[in-house]
Amino acid sequence: MARLTISNVCKMFGSTYAVEDFSLDVEDGELVCLLGPSGSGKSTLLRMIGGFERPSGGAILIDAKDVTHLPPEKRPTGMVFQSHALWTHMNVFDNIAFGLKLRRLPRAEIREKVEGALALVGLAGFGKRMTQQLSGGQQQRVALARSLVLEPKILLLDEPFASLDQHLRERLREEVKDIQQRLGITTLFVTHGQDEALALADRIVVMRDGKSEQVAPPAEVYRNPQTQFVAGFIGLMNFVKTKVVSGSTVHPDFGLEVPIEDGEVVVAFRPDALSIKSPGRDGGPTVHRSIDFGTHRMIDIELADASRIKAMVPPTQKWDKNALVSLTVQDYFVFRDNRLAYQSNGTVTAHCNEKLAHA
Ligand code: ADP
Repeated sequence: MARLTISNVCKMFGSTYAVEDFSLDVEDGELVCLLGPSGSGKSTLLRMIGGFERPSGGAILIDAKDVTHLPPEKRPTGMVFQSHALWTHMNVFDNIAFGLKLRRLPRAEIREKVEGALALVGLAGFGKRMTQQLSGGQQQRVALARSLVLEPKILLLDEPFASLDQHLRERLREEVKDIQQRLGITTLFVTHGQDEALALADRIVVMRDGKSEQVAPPAEVYRNPQTQFVAGFIGLMNFVKTKVVSGSTVHPDFGLEVPIEDGEVVVAFRPDALSIKSPGRDGGPTVHRSIDFGTHRMIDIELADASRIKAMVPPTQKWDKNALVSLTVQDYFVFRDNRLAYQSNGTVTAHCNEKLAHA
């Protein structure tokens, strides 16, 4: 178990920052997901922690020891990459035993540790198989066992299941979470999948352009996004551009209380925070499409300016295409220049802005 401190770390490739002034403390036994779109700097950051990339500035400490300039093999970290990179000329046992042999451990101890690691990843009895005889999921389990057998203080996982199909990915991430909790190992997990981050993480770091946008537990990232980017990246979110004048939005369909300074804003709300009623006013929002997902129905609604938003309603609620509807929003966020400027407390309900609608 170990504590990781990343302090003002940056990495430049040429004249551009891949990671810029990044700081984070990861607690003993914590699982932190680095979540962000492709190119946001997640892998570069993980590789710097593992020693595969040299930071351009800043420091990385593990249990208060500065490891910034140590090579990977001198760090108490274990890394699992997206492509498993197993040795094809060795069987599963030898792949996992390799690092222990380098450490010159006695044979009996190596056998015991490798068998323990195989059991941990659900591959007991697979030691004699050649790696090509394994499925993609099994190969990733071997890669995980190969890291875990060295008993790293910190486990680094770089999109380890990205190449697997969704069902297998979900199963393996459950298993990784179980193993991680059983061992109590401090873990960083890179992913671009919000589901993966929500399912696994104690805390999520949402990354964008080499910087962190928000660091918080999954529920908080979902319920209290601090930026428009985070709001749009995690879960479905509707965005409506409008203006605030004298404490309210001036939008024909969303007369929302927003007690902030006048000016342009983006109002955001989840599909389940939007209810629709009939009838609507002429020229107002219309139903564009209705899709039954079994557990719920998703209604695409077209606004007067041709932009679309979504409402999540019970599956029994059916709507005809082109039906005129009126909208009610509960729970909304207001962003200005990407920053959260106001968040309703869930009790405010906004109805059609009658005055403006008829203006
Ligand atoms: P992510 O893991 O979030 O997809 P990366 O850390 O791989 O992002 O990349 C962050 C940025 O750094 C990208 O713009 C990428 O093109 C750039 N980058 C990464 N590695 C290199 C490299 N070896 N040389 C030059 N640019 C790189």
